[in-house]
Amino acid sequence: METNWHGNNGYFRNGADKLPDNLICDICATEAKVGKRIFACPNVKEPWHKKIARLKRAVRLSEKNKDRDLRKKKLAATKEIERLLKKHITR
Ligand SMILES: [Zn+2]
Repeated sequence: METNWHGNNGYFRNGADKLPDNLICDICATEAKVGKRIFACPNVKEPWHKKIARLKRAVRLSEKNKDRDLRKKKLAATKEIERLLKKHITR
């Protein structure tokens, strides 16, 4: 799975805006569950899910700051994300 650094974090809010066509979590590619007002990936509360969200946020920040070692950071984050997904998501 290609890492989407700018995707959603598993939450979809049903506010004034219309919801996206598909409610697929960009963290773990699981389909979100439909709640009353908030739609969320069933894994959002899992520690590993939060960790991936954190890793992605760090990479986005590095991109914004134009860090020199962005490539290295991205690579390290990708490895860690893949490891976590492999461990926790069974397809
Ligand atoms: Zn998810």
